[in-house]
Amino acid sequence: MRINEITNWAYGVTVVLTVLSGGAFMLSAYSASQERVAIEEHRALDDLSDELAIGAEERTDAARLYVIRGEERHLDDFKDDEARETRLEGAIKDVRGLGAADAELAALTEVEQDADALDQFERDAITAYQNGDKAGAQQTLFGVEHERYQSLLLERVTRFRELVKARTETAVALAQARSDFWGLVAKTMLGITGALFIAVLYFVLKRRVSMPLTRMTGIVTRLARQDYAVEVPLDRRRDEIGEMNQAIHIFRENGLERDRLDAERQADQRTKDLILQMMHRLQACQAQVELADVVSRFAPQIFPDLSGHLYVLNESRTVLVKVGTWLEPQHSSDAFPTSACWGLRRGRPHLSNHGHGDIPCQHLGESDTAGLCVPLTAQGDTIGLLYFEERPGHEMAPESARLYLELIAENIGLAVANLQLRDRLTNLAVRDALTGLFNRRSLDETLLRFGKDRPEVPLACLMIDIDRFKRFNDEFGHDAGDMVMQYVAQMMLDTVGKAGTCYRFGGEEFTILLPNAEETVAFDIAERLREKIATTPLSHGGRILGLVSISIGVAGSPAEGPVSTLVTRADAALLQAKSAGRNQTIVAGTHKLGELGSRNSA
Ligand code: GH3
Ligand code: MG
Ligand code: MG
Repeated sequence: MRINEITNWAYGVTVVLTVLSGGAFMLSAYSASQERVAIEEHRALDDLSDELAIGAEERTDAARLYVIRGEERHLDDFKDDEARETRLEGAIKDVRGLGAADAELAALTEVEQDADALDQFERDAITAYQNGDKAGAQQTLFGVEHERYQSLLLERVTRFRELVKARTETAVALAQARSDFWGLVAKTMLGITGALFIAVLYFVLKRRVSMPLTRMTGIVTRLARQDYAVEVPLDRRRDEIGEMNQAIHIFRENGLERDRLDAERQADQRTKDLILQMMHRLQACQAQVELADVVSRFAPQIFPDLSGHLYVLNESRTVLVKVGTWLEPQHSSDAFPTSACWGLRRGRPHLSNHGHGDIPCQHLGESDTAGLCVPLTAQGDTIGLLYFEERPGHEMAPESARLYLELIAENIGLAVANLQLRDRLTNLAVRDALTGLFNRRSLDETLLRFGKDRPEVPLACLMIDIDRFKRFNDEFGHDAGDMVMQYVAQMMLDTVGKAGTCYRFGGEEFTILLPNAEETVAFDIAERLREKIATTPLSHGGRILGLVSISIGVAGSPAEGPVSTLVTRADAALLQAKSAGRNQTIVAGTHKLGELGSRNSA
């Protein structure tokens, strides 16, 4: 019930009770006045009976004194009393109007008759006295008969008084009881009104208003401080306080929702900031290793619920190779063919094992963990794959986060493509297109840098020229000539390995630089190379080209001369080898010869 209704009801009941108790008070007062009337009546009748008794006695006394003394004043007194007697008779008539009971009236009539009889008796005595019978008159007034009349009158008066007393006592008791009853009713109603007032005051003000208001004040204060963790107990009362409680509840719900949206917005902003930071770093990467490192550091910050791998397509564009990883994913192989991934096959993100029955990627093995493959593409070409895996106890990123995943994938794809393009351009600038070896410019730069930075470190140089190369061009065509050159280049790479770097000097001439190698070591390598080439016959297009041979000049630094003259000295040794008959190695400044030289000398 609403507080307003409760107060209206309480007000109505209080008014009714007040009116009723007022009525009861009036009834009680009326009964009290009745009691008073009964008492007054009683007193009046009592007085009357007294007067009757005393009047009779006084008249008897006056009559007696008159017959004894014969004084007129006593006769006058007797007559006065007679007049009073008459008054009394009038009063007795009035008493009849006072509502006296029949028995009382009968008793009063008897009193009257007795009084009249006594009066007559005394008057007769006085008449006898006046007629001279003094003794007779005295006898009469002091005689037994007179006493009998007097006693009878007193008895009748006493009886009348008793009757009046009995009746008035009953009436007084009745009126008193009625007055007490209505008084009690009035007091009870007043008590109920008071109790109702206090109950309403307690119930409405204390329990329904004050207590909930105190509780709500605390809640509102905390809500005002934006402490939405405060519990707002649901008060389902349909009154003003209930409505207020409802409003506070809604306010808190709104606050919580606003907080949640704020937190979401902040988290979203943080994700965007991290993505932006990652993009800036990706653009500054100079190598794929750096790029993989950047992705492996930022991806777990952006998506803490997902572990993952970064794959890049190998040069032959057939196999994806893992180059970066974060948060230890449990599935997906380190390398797999492009055909093992549905994401790569379809060229769009693919979600495996996420409970909607889609086909899982083969590179995930037998796993039933949810995995998301996002292909990395650049200008329409697939260049790698971002793989995300649901971490134990975490949920796969919601649909909204997929946009970020795709944005990241796009940026990583572009960054990888840029790095690969950059590598290709660098290769074009520093490598020879036909053989894949470093070019002459690269050789010049290396020598310059070496001479400047590490002039004291031993550096050996091999100048190599294919013997009578022109003949391959002339006899078998340029393609065959190119093939011979590629073959020689490959032999050089195989023989030198990590011990040095191979360059195409120009035409069919090559250079090998061997850091930390003495001339003797360089000579041995040169000889090994020369022998390998000279002993392997070549064919091209089904035609036998025959044996290829090379001449080599070897020079060293810094012991034998500065780096700046290294190539010149090696070239001079090469010329010596050529003029000495080709297919041999000569160390600059010595007569150290390879096989042919030895054979010649032999
Ligand atoms: P020598 O033993 O004195 O070195 O004789 P050679 O025939 O090897 O020397 P020469 O300098 O007379 O001939 C070099 C030839 O190499 C000339 C040129 O046509 C040929 N040549 C240079 N560059 C290329 C190339 O890239 N491809 C092909 N097929 N031939 C090339
Ligand atoms: Mg040449
Ligand atoms: Mg040559």
